[in-house]
Amino acid sequence: MIHKKLGILGGGQLGRMASLAASRLGIKTHIYAPEENCPGAQVATWFTQAEYDDTKALKAFADSVDAITYEFENIPLDTVRFLQQYCEVSPNDRLLEIAQDRIKEKKFLNDIGIETARWQEVTSPDGIADALSAFKQNECILKTTRMGYDGKGQMRFKLGDDTIHAYHSLVPERSSKIQLIAEEIVDFSCEVSVVIARDKLGQTAVYTPVLNEHRDHILYKTTAPAPIPSAQMETIKKKAELLAGSVDLIGVLAIELFITTDGKILANEIAPRPHNSGHWTIDACSCSQFEQQVRTVCSLNVGHPHRHSDAVMVNLIGDDVKKVKRVVLCSGKVYYDLLEERESQKIKDVAILRLEQYYPFPDVDLTEELKGYPKLEEVVWCQEEPENMGAWFFVDRRIEAVLAKLGGKATRPLYAGRPAAASPAAGYPKAHKRKQQALVDQALKGEY
Ligand code: ATP
Ligand code: MG
Repeated sequence: MIHKKLGILGGGQLGRMASLAASRLGIKTHIYAPEENCPGAQVATWFTQAEYDDTKALKAFADSVDAITYEFENIPLDTVRFLQQYCEVSPNDRLLEIAQDRIKEKKFLNDIGIETARWQEVTSPDGIADALSAFKQNECILKTTRMGYDGKGQMRFKLGDDTIHAYHSLVPERSSKIQLIAEEIVDFSCEVSVVIARDKLGQTAVYTPVLNEHRDHILYKTTAPAPIPSAQMETIKKKAELLAGSVDLIGVLAIELFITTDGKILANEIAPRPHNSGHWTIDACSCSQFEQQVRTVCSLNVGHPHRHSDAVMVNLIGDDVKKVKRVVLCSGKVYYDLLEERESQKIKDVAILRLEQYYPFPDVDLTEELKGYPKLEEVVWCQEEPENMGAWFFVDRRIEAVLAKLGGKATRPLYAGRPAAASPAAGYPKAHKRKQQALVDQALKGEY
């Protein structure tokens, strides 16, 4: 039987995207989260604001839905076990327990034959020195076993550093609850991840592995597919299948992995949910990772993970959005030229938005999108075609209408592209390159 009401623990961005995917399938969602007015609640049918240990609220939540899932792995295990008495929670508590604790996670992975970096449990300052000698290395990474994210609760330790100081910078003096793991430092050529969905019939859907680049310990850019040999792609997918089968997954999980400079593939972390490096599946696949989560948890079959386009995803973090003064709108291939130039020049105050469809003009979506930039001063339309061709004449007035509705500093869109010409082509390749660079500079820096 298909479940029509889905409960989601957690109301962040992942819960929001799952909720949107559910609504397209005609499934209503009930978000349960302690935070007021969270992003997920804004797009769910029902919302319960309560703590994760509020058994009365949890019971009512479980009774109101047909199936339950969660959007992040730090939901207390007791909450999930309590709910399981009244309603099915997927993925199950076993996978959640493994994913919550780096020691259990690494042990489990190694037990089923998935290799990781060498690791050792650290229960005292002396344990750090023991780990270094076990790894026969001068450096290692120390991580708290629980609750780490975006590199929080981690540090590098070098032989000769003060072990007591290092230990207590992660484990407060009187805390007996926090445990540490030491990991050998992996000499990796790149970091990749893979997302897999598995349904109640045991059918799986694995997405193409992707390349992940981090900045300041936060995922910055994901490239799908990862530019790695197909044999490595297959090996990574097999690891995902092996893990999903071993934990009898119902739902979606992701594995983060390292590819070492000598070609080995080592698993780093598991996430028992859609992953930040899988958002590209919304735009580039026939069935997104969020739709898979909803489908599998609600007793539907997994969808096909077919990738109809390649994709690059860049993570814009809240504070970056606040810096944006200029938004460049464009369509098609020029997007990549703009993105590349913005990155190589480290331009921080320009956002690039790709409009893939102009008719009907997405004025509501564009207005919403532009509202997210509080410091917006200029909106630019960038195209490769000469001014008298391409979309400029069509979008010009429509963008202006959106800006009028916004009522901000920007009132007219600016044009960045080739001047009016009789022919769409630039002629010689050299001339093409020069003109292309000029229009990219014009769009990003206003150099007219
Ligand atoms: P997130 O939640 O953002 O994935 P996290 O805080 O859970 O991060 P990890 O994924 O374990 O922590 O580590 C964050 C990053 O630190 C990794 O993506 C990798 O770049 C680097 N890193 C972690 N462990 C190692 C290691 N053993 N050797 C080399 N680099 C590592
Ligand atoms: Mg990680």
